[in-house]
Amino acid sequence: MSKYVYFFNEGDAKMRDLLGGKGANLCEMTRLGMPVPPGFVITTEVCVHYAREGAYPPTLDEQVNAALANVEKVMGLKFGDERNPLLLSCRSGARRSMPGMMETVLNVGLCSKTIPGLIEKTRNERFVYDAYRRLIMMYSDVVMEKAEGIEPKEGEGIRDKLESLMAGMKKRRHYSQDTELTAEDLKELCAQFKRTVKEVMGRDFPDDPMEQLWGSVGAVFKSWNGKRAISYRRIEHIPDEWGTATNVQSMVFGNIGETSATGVAFTRNPATGENKFYGEWLPNAQGEDVVAGIRTPNPLNEETKNPQNKHLSSLQSKWPALYRELDDIRTTLEKHFRDMQDIEFTIQDGTLYMLQCRNGKRTGTAALNMAMDMLEEGLIDDRTAVMRVEPGHLDELLHPIVNPDAERKAKPFLTGLPAGPGGAFGKIVFTSVDAVEWTRRGEKVILVREETNPEDVEGMRAAAGILTARGGMTSHAALVARGWGKCCIVGAGEAEVDAESKELVVGLTRLKEGESITLNGTRGLVYQGALAMMDASENPRFQRFMKLADGFRTLGVRTNADTQKDAKVARDFGAEGIGLFRTEHMFYGKGSDEPLFLLRKMILSNTPEERQAAVDELYPFVKRDIKATLEVMDGLPVTIRLLDPPLHEFVPQGEENQAELAKSLGIMPSDVRKRGEALHESNPMMGHRGVRLGITYPEITEMQVRAILEASAELIKAGKRMKPEIMVPVTCDAGELDVTRVIVDRVHDEVRKVTGVDVPFLYGTMIEIPRACLLADEMAKSAQFFSFGTNDLTQMTFGFSRDDIGTFLPDYLKQGLLSADPFETIDQSGVGQLIKMSVDRGRAARPDLKIGICGEQGGDPASVEFCFKAGLNYVSCSPFRVPVARLAAAQANLKHKEAGSRGV
Ligand code: ADP
Ligand code: MG
Ligand code: MG
Repeated sequence: MSKYVYFFNEGDAKMRDLLGGKGANLCEMTRLGMPVPPGFVITTEVCVHYAREGAYPPTLDEQVNAALANVEKVMGLKFGDERNPLLLSCRSGARRSMPGMMETVLNVGLCSKTIPGLIEKTRNERFVYDAYRRLIMMYSDVVMEKAEGIEPKEGEGIRDKLESLMAGMKKRRHYSQDTELTAEDLKELCAQFKRTVKEVMGRDFPDDPMEQLWGSVGAVFKSWNGKRAISYRRIEHIPDEWGTATNVQSMVFGNIGETSATGVAFTRNPATGENKFYGEWLPNAQGEDVVAGIRTPNPLNEETKNPQNKHLSSLQSKWPALYRELDDIRTTLEKHFRDMQDIEFTIQDGTLYMLQCRNGKRTGTAALNMAMDMLEEGLIDDRTAVMRVEPGHLDELLHPIVNPDAERKAKPFLTGLPAGPGGAFGKIVFTSVDAVEWTRRGEKVILVREETNPEDVEGMRAAAGILTARGGMTSHAALVARGWGKCCIVGAGEAEVDAESKELVVGLTRLKEGESITLNGTRGLVYQGALAMMDASENPRFQRFMKLADGFRTLGVRTNADTQKDAKVARDFGAEGIGLFRTEHMFYGKGSDEPLFLLRKMILSNTPEERQAAVDELYPFVKRDIKATLEVMDGLPVTIRLLDPPLHEFVPQGEENQAELAKSLGIMPSDVRKRGEALHESNPMMGHRGVRLGITYPEITEMQVRAILEASAELIKAGKRMKPEIMVPVTCDAGELDVTRVIVDRVHDEVRKVTGVDVPFLYGTMIEIPRACLLADEMAKSAQFFSFGTNDLTQMTFGFSRDDIGTFLPDYLKQGLLSADPFETIDQSGVGQLIKMSVDRGRAARPDLKIGICGEQGGDPASVEFCFKAGLNYVSCSPFRVPVARLAAAQANLKHKEAGSRGV
């Protein structure tokens, strides 16, 4: 006979797949001798069976009855008994915690038969009717409504109706607290509740204990397939097949009177990590009251009081002996689980009971502090410490954040997508020029735009934060902001941005230029006014932690940087090289006027001679730019990509701009326009760009290669260590690489002759077109390295354009057609296959082929893990993501000891 039911002393913490996290830990606490009210777990297998067959396994009934008899024996009570009634709770609990997503019913077993006996026994009529009204509320909501698939309109559910009855009674009696309701009130309320349930649900509230029990058990199992639970699983990638367990447990009561209480606690502070017992409790209350926030809860002890609760008495001062008992349990639990625990407890008439424990959720700061503390305390080893901090947590440690206390008191007036992490406040401005201007005057500003484009970069750089009404997580503003580690919120659809009258309108709120707002870029929330900030990176342990992580890492981590400044930031964050230096960067933003003018001159040349002359003029700028970054990266590898974008992007738009350029060049404005039109690509992603430019205009390639090699030669002469990596973009055929290589070799020879330095270099290509993946073996014969340009490779593999995926991605995600944005995290099943195939074929042709990735995904933890498993040498990401990638790479090593990458 299969075993479907486990008494709490039959299971343990290792059985979480079968018993769910809550059940497994209730068993474990029981084994540790802690005061856990007795009960049993009905396994997750039953949930799966029930969902599939619509019925329970045949022997379940029998097993539940046996377990129930056991609980009755231990408690000396009987379920449904007139004199000594046992009451039960039915609690959900899956393998992984899904907070608030599934259901629990308390006080099961109260009915007309058991109520008088319980009153008699407890001599507390008020308590009994308080418990009963809770049962009716929970049961009608969870079992009679939700589990039946009834979906009332917002605010019209049975629970809302009953709650408004209770609120009405409190109002009539002039009560402010639930605790003021008398026994008589509650008795009357229960009668009202039952009438309403009958009216609304069309059937009576069940008065038979067994019916209540099985109704509750079934509802808990069904809540696995409730709407909320399903959508939560989609987001968290929890498989539908897991199922939830149902925990049936004898009730203990925190609401029996003033000697009873209920509370929740964390064995350490979950916000800061501080090694202090931290929690909240409420006298005379049942579990859900603490979370529901019906009253301000009391502090657990004296040292963790805060301004909201300092006038309330702590558990420590009110009941010192009970507090000590709880504090001992805290110590035992931490020693046992070797991690911070989140616990639920109840005190019934002076006796302490433990109702739950699990690994507690924590902020990034707390995760880091706890990991390092526990390492120092000898509670965990260094591997465990490295695994304890989620890579995504580091984001928070690297940026100033909105002070959580300040934020709790404020209410957001606008929400959008959390595109750039951290927090920022400032006065709102509506143009890039103003952002620069105001910042120069010493103001902090938030740049507010409908959406941003490359011409806004100066203002974006200057602003403390960026807010846009349109755009998705991979829009221009989002990419730029993340690259800089700048706080940014995009796609705040309710905002109307009137750049003309310089107003930000959200519903009835109108904010003028110069008014302050605050952004929480980690959560996508916008507040009015300037909220207090907190600099989380001040924690000195961050560096030590990262060093620990690096000790386990084999995958290299480089950065995508186009400027000296970014390169420096990335180096400080531990980047081991540059994986992508975009030469075109020098034509955008500050200081770009002159090189951009020369580039335009080159584009508008009519003869090869004219073009060569323009290229020659451009040369010193390109060399200077490359040299500056190479110098910062002394001793580390730098991959420099040859010019990539289609040329039309550099031809000015609009008559005025075109006329101005024509005037400076001494040509007709119509020539500028015509050239712009001739170069225009209706599909720029697939146009005349990358290596194709070099095939048509070899002098452009030649100039860039010369700039790279001469800059390196000069730096080598100055005592630096240089080994530039020349990367050809947008290739689809080995032939393109061979044609370009001829130029590279010739220029290399010439540079050697002129400078006397034989610059060591690598020659390779960006792999971003599926054909290049298919022919990876051919490509590898000509290329010494590959770098996966996973932005374009994703575009070309899916046929999705990164720039407008925001218009349909939400539908794809909602309908489960995609589980994530493939531009944020590598699509392992599709794009991932192309990558693996390229690695295999490439390394077969050239065993020492160096392979990296330089797409945005290079800073995404799941993608980093994938790259490690695929055997890449390194990932490259924006400077602020470098620590995230380092940690993700270290964790990949610890998770998959057998697989392996080979380092920078
Ligand atoms: P959740 O997972 O939403 O926290 P729980 O199953 O833990 O749901 O239960 C909800 C609340 O009911 C908690 O506060 C819990 O402490 C309380 N509770 C559950 N079972 C019992 C019980 N047997 N006696 C007293 N309180 C209980
Ligand atoms: Mg709980
Ligand atoms: Mg590309």
